[in-house]
Amino acid sequence: MSRPPNDVIIVRYGEIALKSRNVRDRYEKILMSNITSMLDAMGASYDSVSRDWGRIYIHTADPAAAQAAAKVFGVVSVSHAITCEPTLESVSSVAADVGQEIIVEGQSFGIRPRRAGNHDFSSRDVGIACGDAVWQRIEHQSPSVDLTNPDVEIFVEVRQNHAFVYTDVVNGVGGLPLGTQGKMVALVSGGIDSPVAAWLMMKRGCEIIPVYVNNDPFSDETTRQRALECIRVLQTWAPGHSLKVYEVPGGESQISFLSDCQRRYTCVLCRRMMYRIAAGIMEKERAHGIITGASLGQVASQTSQNMLAETCGIHAPIYHPVIALDKTEIVDMARNIGSYDASTRPATCCTAVPEKPATAAKCSDVCGEEANIDVDGLLQTALSGLKVVDPSEYS
Ligand code: ATP
Ligand code: MG
Repeated sequence: MSRPPNDVIIVRYGEIALKSRNVRDRYEKILMSNITSMLDAMGASYDSVSRDWGRIYIHTADPAAAQAAAKVFGVVSVSHAITCEPTLESVSSVAADVGQEIIVEGQSFGIRPRRAGNHDFSSRDVGIACGDAVWQRIEHQSPSVDLTNPDVEIFVEVRQNHAFVYTDVVNGVGGLPLGTQGKMVALVSGGIDSPVAAWLMMKRGCEIIPVYVNNDPFSDETTRQRALECIRVLQTWAPGHSLKVYEVPGGESQISFLSDCQRRYTCVLCRRMMYRIAAGIMEKERAHGIITGASLGQVASQTSQNMLAETCGIHAPIYHPVIALDKTEIVDMARNIGSYDASTRPATCCTAVPEKPATAAKCSDVCGEEANIDVDGLLQTALSGLKVVDPSEYS
């Protein structure tokens, strides 16, 4: 007998379940909408998306829908399952069909039963009935039962009005649904670190507003294209939330730093100007913070002393989600996110970077340097030159 087709994807989520009833209801609705958008964006077919207390269901036979759902922030795991009646007869017959199809000669199996609702049998009864049914169906293969470390697991979940049988639990990306944790301005340079940083905050539920500071003539079109390509990758994680991308001219500030300030402070001064620009956009967009890809000690300028000097007098919450990660950890994440190739395509490095950057800048020194230039004027020049770009128009 051939087994019935998988017809539903069980979508599980984590922390949302700990929220109060109202918050949970709101988050679940956002999650469902994000799942629907991801299914559409990835071209997966489905009949409908529904929810039940604690679960979301995608009614579909398309395995691509499970892959799409696993990519949605907030999803902890997914299983493509067969729906059946919540009776011992029904679940054990389907479990036997599944077992017959996937257990090969010499393999052990284990039933993983669960039950919720009112039934006249226990989850233990489910385990026994399904285990017996599978055994009888493949007795000629001399199977063995192993509940500790079986070769094949068959999950059987009986709920009030229906039951599910499945064999795989695929990990989802985790986090919180995008759009539940406010908006942040993400400084995206196109290097390996900043797209990962932006992605981590998206994973935690933040909508992002990517900002690329174009330091032309100290960088060029290759650097700009690399940043836009990274933003395109980030967009694939946020279907249904069209990213508003800003490009801001930063070259004029760099010219001032180079001509009127001590050379070794260029990077710290540049970072301060970027934060001011980002804070301006944050206000304009009513966003709540700024994200960077700074990682402690990764390059000479990324010291804790410099980071203090970079933020003194700057009034905006600045988040550095990869601050404590090793480069190899960030690279692994970039590969999983899909931004690594974009970040490593050939691009020009910023030519304003000094040979010996300050590694322990003091707030007083940096403010002293800024007294030599027209900080407010430069900021206004940068902000008046900002434009919204559509990253899909470039390649
Ligand atoms: P990345 O790999 O993201 O380029 P990095 O380790 O090279 O980071 P820096 O070049 O020192 O670090 O920059 C630190 C952070 O400042 C970046 O991660 C990014 O958030 C921001 N940043 C740097 N340059 C730009 C830029 N041109 N436009 C927007 N943000 C930038
Ligand atoms: Mg960089």
